[in-house]
Amino acid sequence: MSHIPQEHGILVVFSGPSGAGKGTILKRYFEDYPPAVLSVSATTRAPRPGEVDGVHYHFVTREKFEEMIEHNEVLEYNIYNGNYYGSPRGPIEEELSRGHDVILEIETNGAGHIREMYPSALSIFVMPPSFEDLKERLTSRGTESPEEIEKRLKRGREEMAMALDYDYIVVNDQVDTAARRLSEIIRSARWSKKFNQHFIQEVLKNA
Ligand code: 5GP
Repeated sequence: MSHIPQEHGILVVFSGPSGAGKGTILKRYFEDYPPAVLSVSATTRAPRPGEVDGVHYHFVTREKFEEMIEHNEVLEYNIYNGNYYGSPRGPIEEELSRGHDVILEIETNGAGHIREMYPSALSIFVMPPSFEDLKERLTSRGTESPEEIEKRLKRGREEMAMALDYDYIVVNDQVDTAARRLSEIIRSARWSKKFNQHFIQEVLKNA
């Protein structure tokens, strides 16, 4: 029996600086290119207005989160701005084994952990067309104070330097184009060498 590559889903790590448009690209991607699954992370930060428990995040207490870590229930986690964020293991493994691609929208440290633990994971980084563009987007959405914008830009600079550790970048000059690029990357990754190590070995074993 050969394991044809379509039988297992791809674990996709998706990162990018605040303001680069990760959420907007993913929203368009899921509208236009189903079926893939977005992992719902657990976090100890408070919900923002409009955020729904179980949809945007699983909002949990610190005690609960630490219990999840102890019981090995998170695939990866990180502390960001003083709060825990992590990807629940159970639903991710279940969807992957059903052949569905699973996208983790996580920051760069968590992405590094995933790359170490799952060498066949696909990692994609969203870049703005320019730093000026990122600055303008963060300023014009008007949701953050000037100090907060400066903080995010500083972190954004550090994060964009990490784009070099990722397999691919998606430049977000236009949301439809960016979502299409994401879809093309995921489709071709199914036939990448690193995703098919096991398959190649299986075929060779019986050669
Ligand atoms: P926010 O509080 O703005 O929703 O998210 C803050 C940061 O945490 C973002 O960069 C987001 O990508 C990241 N994040 C969300 N969920 C996870 C997760 O499960 N693991 C890690 N490592 N980062 C996450």
